[in-house]
Amino acid sequence: MNETDLLTGAGFWTTRADPALGLRSLVLSDGPVGVRGERWEERGSAVLPSPTAWAASWDEALATALGGLLAAEARRKGVDVLLGPTVNLHRSPAAGRHFECLSEDPLLTGRIGAALVRGVQAGGVAATAKHYVANDSETNRFTVDVRVGERALREVYLAPFEALVVDGGVWLVMAAYNRVNGVTMTESPLLATPLVTEWGFDGVVVSDWFATRSVVDSALAGLTLVMPGPGGPWSAGLAAAVSAGAVPRPVVSDKIDRLRRLASRVSGKSRLPGRGGSLLRRAAADGMVLVRNTAGALPLRGVRRVALLGPNAADPAIQGGGSAGLTPSYTVTPLDALASVVDVVHTAGAYRGPGLTPMAADLHVRYLDPAGAELRAEHRTTGRLVWSGDDIVPGTTVEVSGTFRAPAAGDWRIGFAGVGEFTLTLDGSPVLTETVGPDDDSFAAGLLDPPQRWVTRRLGAGDLLKVQVKHLPAYELGAAKLVVGVQPPRRSDEAELAAAVEAARGADAAVVVVGTDDRVESEGRDRAGLGLPGRQDDLVRAVAGVNPRTVVVVNSGSPVLLPWREQVAAVLLTWFPGQEFGNALADVLLGEREPGGRLPTTWPASERDVPVLSTRPDGDTLHYAEGLHIGYRAWLRSGATPAYPFGHGLGYTTWEYLGLTAEGPAISVRLRNAGDRSGKEVVQAYLSKPESSIDRPAVWLAGFAVVRARPGETVTATIALPERAFQHWDGGWRTEEGDYLLTVGRSVADRPLAAVISGRSLGVRPR
Ligand code: BGC
Repeated sequence: MNETDLLTGAGFWTTRADPALGLRSLVLSDGPVGVRGERWEERGSAVLPSPTAWAASWDEALATALGGLLAAEARRKGVDVLLGPTVNLHRSPAAGRHFECLSEDPLLTGRIGAALVRGVQAGGVAATAKHYVANDSETNRFTVDVRVGERALREVYLAPFEALVVDGGVWLVMAAYNRVNGVTMTESPLLATPLVTEWGFDGVVVSDWFATRSVVDSALAGLTLVMPGPGGPWSAGLAAAVSAGAVPRPVVSDKIDRLRRLASRVSGKSRLPGRGGSLLRRAAADGMVLVRNTAGALPLRGVRRVALLGPNAADPAIQGGGSAGLTPSYTVTPLDALASVVDVVHTAGAYRGPGLTPMAADLHVRYLDPAGAELRAEHRTTGRLVWSGDDIVPGTTVEVSGTFRAPAAGDWRIGFAGVGEFTLTLDGSPVLTETVGPDDDSFAAGLLDPPQRWVTRRLGAGDLLKVQVKHLPAYELGAAKLVVGVQPPRRSDEAELAAAVEAARGADAAVVVVGTDDRVESEGRDRAGLGLPGRQDDLVRAVAGVNPRTVVVVNSGSPVLLPWREQVAAVLLTWFPGQEFGNALADVLLGEREPGGRLPTTWPASERDVPVLSTRPDGDTLHYAEGLHIGYRAWLRSGATPAYPFGHGLGYTTWEYLGLTAEGPAISVRLRNAGDRSGKEVVQAYLSKPESSIDRPAVWLAGFAVVRARPGETVTATIALPERAFQHWDGGWRTEEGDYLLTVGRSVADRPLAAVISGRSLGVRPR
């Protein structure tokens, strides 16, 4: 074996071993909300809340604890490298992977991301900062050229990566698919500077899967490891380039050293906590953001009968779509959890959109060679099957058989999703034979959201139907996905809405769980708009019209429009809360726990006001024309009022901000819990520079701290203001002379305390 062979994966998720070098094979796995392991399968992954929810907690200790849980999951599955966290930014709320990123603010993203990394790596598992850099949307992600100015790149988009490398000590960085200022990221000069020369990164730069396009340019730029393997541009090409002198030997040695360092880092210890159901439950509640609560609608006290409505009540979106997707060993839905503690009447009231849900049944899966002989067989419990790498040999036919038992009477859709050849057989009779291609030619479209086909069958409650799908997969990027699924009978939209209104009319409170799902929010494509799918807005309005205590629970990974928000009693945002959703929601609705979240990203009132909505490149060029002004910085500049501002969130108590003092580079903020229950507050410090000779954001987040206090208790939040918070990039980091205005409060729109900072000395200014 040639040394250079070590620098391409051995398989889809593994690296090569070289016993002579003392190098073992490493296993890499997605990431970031759990650890899938080497196979896409249902045999139980813990599913954490989405990263938007981690950031919404603003709680570094919680992020570190979640990192520890991820490490334990990785160890359990024999995984050395977790492919996460994703620390790209919320530049546009329409971005498909918005749910997978943390925040629109670089400081918050960097601090929570670094805290998570520390938790993962303390467990002897490597974390990966991805996708380096400016991979903030999905449209044309494989080829798009992001044009971004040097200052915005440094102060905004690179800043979270810097925090993960310098403060988090992250062991891998993943080079993205896109180009930045004309150069594809696997060949970018940014892999050397600032990553290595300024931040001192001594870890591995892994390519995003199939992102490497060259031999010499990528090797010289600083890419360490090409994934996946075997094959790919470096597999034969790198050795040849070294022999030809195009890639100097020390360049290769440096890469091998980096790989060995990684192997020695991950061969470590691990404290193995349990599966962490209680941590998942607490984390989900701690990320939930109560953005509106009128007349004490929440928590639900003295409520006997609850109308639990909305499509996401029984069919919640616990996670987003794409490579991040996992199959949990169990999911607690809002319906499961609430029905076990209060008297619940339930109907969906509206549908999100048509779609097959993977069949949950005992499935017998056979793999057949081209002559029809069985190669192997397995038992599965979900109709969602994915194969990559060595899981399956091309040319293999897959036969999935099982018996579906209809839980309710009506017209059921029964079918499949995938690309390739299909025959669907019901009760022994073939009913559908078709060769299906992907819906469009976007990167990995057939894998991420394959086309669906179905037939309709009228079934009585309890009826049994033998279902078989025979499938010859077409492969994309060496992988294939098959869903064997059903869609339950549906009433007409009008009848369904009327049933929900009836239920709401007779209840003490109506809880409407609206939202998106992993098809609406997914890797691979950006959202076309921010509205809730289907007729969910009509549902909320109609329910609010008959029940004054209407609480809307919004189950989406990123902002959606809430045009009825002033007409309902309360609005609770839950993000994609992971598998413990139902329990966490019941805790919060009933007041067992406080909703601990504050918005990590601005929620718009209308698409028109959103500073950057479209992610459509011009040709293949995407101009970050707004420069430094993303998120709340842009909202403040435009003067438009969002539905809910950055940092906002109510909790169940109230706070009085008493005063601000300076202690060296840190500030102390005194505040008092003025309510009648214990609570959590996120104290946020913002800077601005009223007189400046350069372009400045209206304000920027400079620090924050989480405090907790009992009723009536006064506490002090200590917030360190890092030097970087005062610096701007101008070919180097510089600090402009003169006064900075510091404002402190509970959201970017509510900053009751102010002080002036001159240079590095702080003087408190009376308000
Ligand atoms: C995604 C990465 C992921 C990789 C491996 C890529 O398509 O962009 O985030 O880690 O696939 O699944």
